[in-house]
Amino acid sequence: MSTAVRTHLYAAVEDTAAHLYVWALKDIPQDLRDALASAAGRETSVPGQRVLSTILKNVEVADSERNLVCQDTGIAVYSCRVGEGFPLHPARIYQALKAGTGRATVEHPLRSNAVHTLTRENTGPNTGHRLPIVHWEFVPDWDGLDVKCVPKGSGSENMSFLKMCVPADGVKGIKQFVLESIVGAGGKPCPPGIVGVGIGGSADYAMHLAKEAIARPVGTRNPDPLVAALEGELYELLNETGVGPMGLGGDVTVLSVHVEHADTHMTLNPVAVNYQCWAARRASAHVAADGTVTYERDA
Ligand code: SF4
Repeated sequence: MSTAVRTHLYAAVEDTAAHLYVWALKDIPQDLRDALASAAGRETSVPGQRVLSTILKNVEVADSERNLVCQDTGIAVYSCRVGEGFPLHPARIYQALKAGTGRATVEHPLRSNAVHTLTRENTGPNTGHRLPIVHWEFVPDWDGLDVKCVPKGSGSENMSFLKMCVPADGVKGIKQFVLESIVGAGGKPCPPGIVGVGIGGSADYAMHLAKEAIARPVGTRNPDPLVAALEGELYELLNETGVGPMGLGGDVTVLSVHVEHADTHMTLNPVAVNYQCWAARRASAHVAADGTVTYERDA
């Protein structure tokens, strides 16, 4: 591959990251807008109704002012599906995503949240050591690149929980842990949002699955009927807890529950919970091998 092609593709990926980060922060997906409007329609508590109408107004103002839906610009998290024939190496894709994140932060400008974990000093424009975070999937017999950006606010990310249940705890133990986690979190993760649950695999993979779950469109169901039934049951149970919008009490504690699963060791039963706040931001793009970029909500 020539240097010119490589430079062209690098620029395309950098532009993509810069655009996706800002797009996700400003314009929440239609499925989320619908879920929030429907929640406002069924909430019966007065504080809950007030919170939901303030959220809807907030979204309206963000649209009309072309501004962010929330001041917390989060950590930029990207998921990349890279075709084996895509002509830019993942090492360069990572550099381009980092450069795009930094450029968006400086040019918009956006709040920069990145700090060194020990010194707490700023490490760059939403960039630093291993920031942004990128998850990779490699696809054979394909020459494209899909990039999804899910900025993750700290209020909801702080409400992440992992438990290594034992197999004897069974499905009952999984449900109990999800309930305890969400009730314990109360208003901290800015509910109502999406509860992501990862079950199976290993400790780290269960959390990865929970995060994959929160990035799905609101209300989608897992293709495995057993897992989909668990999603439905958890949704009903969590909305009976009374936590309500912003933890002020009410009927709507969660907009949706998404569960992703992996098979596991016979002596393991890991459960991870990751919360995505009401500002469940996500945006995607497809980058073709010739550098053409197509923006889609869910690539
Ligand atoms: S948790 Fe979400 S809604 Fe709450 S402050 Fe953070 S980004 Fe904003």
